[in-house]
Amino acid sequence: MIDTKEKLKSILSLSPEEEAFDYTAPDSLSLKIPEYFFNLIDASDPDDPLRIQCIPNAREQEAEAGSGLDPLAEVEHTQGERLIHRYHSRAAFLTTDVCAIHCRHCFRRRFTATDQGPASDEEIEQAARYVAEHPEITELLFTGGDVLSLSDSRLEAMIKAFRSLRPNLVIRICTRMPAANPRRITDELVSMIKRHNSAPFYLMTQFNHGRELTAEAIEAVARFVDNGIPAMNQSVLLRGVNDDVETLVQLCNALVFNRIKPYYLFQGDLVAGTAHLRVSIKRGLELEAELRRRLSGLAMPTYAIDLPEGGGKVPLTGQYLVRETAEGAWEFKTCEGERRLYPEAPTLR
Ligand SMILES: *Cc1c(COP(=O)(O)O)cnc(C)c1O
Repeated sequence: MIDTKEKLKSILSLSPEEEAFDYTAPDSLSLKIPEYFFNLIDASDPDDPLRIQCIPNAREQEAEAGSGLDPLAEVEHTQGERLIHRYHSRAAFLTTDVCAIHCRHCFRRRFTATDQGPASDEEIEQAARYVAEHPEITELLFTGGDVLSLSDSRLEAMIKAFRSLRPNLVIRICTRMPAANPRRITDELVSMIKRHNSAPFYLMTQFNHGRELTAEAIEAVARFVDNGIPAMNQSVLLRGVNDDVETLVQLCNALVFNRIKPYYLFQGDLVAGTAHLRVSIKRGLELEAELRRRLSGLAMPTYAIDLPEGGGKVPLTGQYLVRETAEGAWEFKTCEGERRLYPEAPTLR
């Protein structure tokens, strides 16, 4: 694992901005890169898209007006210590603050790597009871941190705690591990999860660039999919990483080819320290429109933004529905930019 500046500098030369990152500043997200992920970086390219995602840069420490540590107001929606119930039918459980890799675009910096460790038995029980008392919650997200940084036995205890009270609860395993360190995904892990199949599990991965889909990463995801656990991917739109059409087309097609459904492409949240990685919404919408022309429906992710002050997620997409005409029809714009009219359905007497 690469977790000190000295180790980092012994293997690769830092740019002036990387060199200027203050490793001792309070509130800064520390350096952490698994050996596996580090070896995927092209050390000769200062703009390598994998490098940008994990090597600290002084631009993270520039102040930015309007950003904060909790722009989604998650704390406000947190029940107990670790359960975020923001949406009617689903809740997110912060299983641990530990991650295999410290992504420089991390949107949960208020929690990630804060040395709190895995949820305690008491926190797990309390969260499980809350979910049991809220039958409207049909899906639970195991997130963090990275849930797969937990040991198999710890994860099993969490699954049991929730599923014993709610056998029909769908559980999403939200993890960057297949990209960060696919060797963590063993047959033992997947067969343990499979033993608790009173309801489906979904694997929610985060691949941001096609180069992260190595043979090992693909094999790790295949372990889940072969065992009946579908895989969905959530990417973050990141400046210099994947903010061009070719990169996204290649990523999304490679995901589909490997049985991973591109689910969301996220606009960067207003988290302090991530401004230099954010792509403008204007550019994001251009990319989204071009992707819609180039990708199959299956390969097309939903470009989405999590609105400030806890506004929640909404899709970001071009306007295809232009207006309702005075003649009772709907005017549309096609993906190629042409106009079409669709007459409103007749009212039946
Ligand atoms: C994104 C998110 C979810 C899941 O939302 P979906 O649109 O169903 O994927 C649930 N809880 C929180 C707090 C979230 O941020």
